Amino acid sequence: MSRFLSKEYAALKEYIPGEQPQDRKYIKLNTNESPYPPSPKTQDAISRDAAAKLCLYSDPESRALKEGLADLYGVTPRQVFVSNGSDDILNFAFMAFGKDVGACYADITYGFYPVFAQLHHIDARVIPLSADFTLPIAEFCHTGRLVVIANPNAPTGIALSLAEVEEIVRSNPDTVVVIDEAYVDFGAESALALLPKYDNLLVVRTYSKSRSMAGARLGFAFASEAIISDLERIKYSTNPYNVNRLTQAAGLAALSEDGYYTDNCKRIIATRERTREALVALGFTVLPSSANFLFATHEKMTGEEIYRRLKEDGVLVRHFTAPRIANYNRITIGTDEEMTQMLARLTNILKGTQTI
Ligand SMILES: *Cc1c(COP(=O)(O)O)cnc(C)c1O
Repeated sequence: MSRFLSKEYAALKEYIPGEQPQDRKYIKLNTNESPYPPSPKTQDAISRDAAAKLCLYSDPESRALKEGLADLYGVTPRQVFVSNGSDDILNFAFMAFGKDVGACYADITYGFYPVFAQLHHIDARVIPLSADFTLPIAEFCHTGRLVVIANPNAPTGIALSLAEVEEIVRSNPDTVVVIDEAYVDFGAESALALLPKYDNLLVVRTYSKSRSMAGARLGFAFASEAIISDLERIKYSTNPYNVNRLTQAAGLAALSEDGYYTDNCKRIIATRERTREALVALGFTVLPSSANFLFATHEKMTGEEIYRRLKEDGVLVRHFTAPRIANYNRITIGTDEEMTQMLARLTNILKGTQTI
């Protein structure tokens, strides 16, 4: 820390992203990326012609992209916001809707929420998940606060039903309810259907997981026109060109091949269920997942040791140190081949424990 840093940031605990190691080749199952590349048209959109236009600023309104998203999802372009990854949108949402009323979120959820709360000096009520890691719905009703929920939740993978989400949105009429749907395409119900009924709902999505574009940084969101204009106000006060030209072009092209991505989601779901059964056969307890990852624990070996041994064997998974989940690992669903290899290595690692 330099002696120049503003005091308000001296104690800030920044978000720690999952490892992106460059030292050796791993089977990389630690940051919930898609194992499949973007669709052909998505790749073609980042052409030499597109690159030649990089001398010009991107469209700050992302008009074509917003129209494409509006068409595909059945809303108007003025109900759509796009930004440099959904982390960017979540940051804006905490800033725009949390400062006066405070925020609330679960104890076990996306690790960025507490960082944004701290960054913006927002009073946060942290609500513990139930013992089985489900969300205690009643505690998220009538909060008087900005409510932030990942659905499906991370890192558990557990999803809420649309009726449960609606109860939370309906019972917090005077504050914004953010439903972070980073993983919704892998088997949960989207809150988008509730948009016509509720002006306090903000549905946040990303191209990073189900659309194979984590490296492009593209997030999008749906809400009432008024909420979208608030987010635009923050965006135009920080970085109007925050979605670059190549990303806008790729994002639009991806919408024209939506079937490619929905097929990949089906494939990932099938691989997930196969992997889940195999993990259970190895003695793991695995939470029910509606996402592109599994959250698993084994009674014969600590979460930390499983993580470490897998890493030695060239397989990266995500281990968290928070006490309630320290014995779990979050395993991203890769290709069938990657999962077969991961399971083979796990089988070997666990063999040593069977005799104890
Ligand atoms: C991955 C993830 C994000 C961030 O996505 P980006 O669009 O890549 O910034 C947001 N929320 C949750 C719950 C995530 O898992």
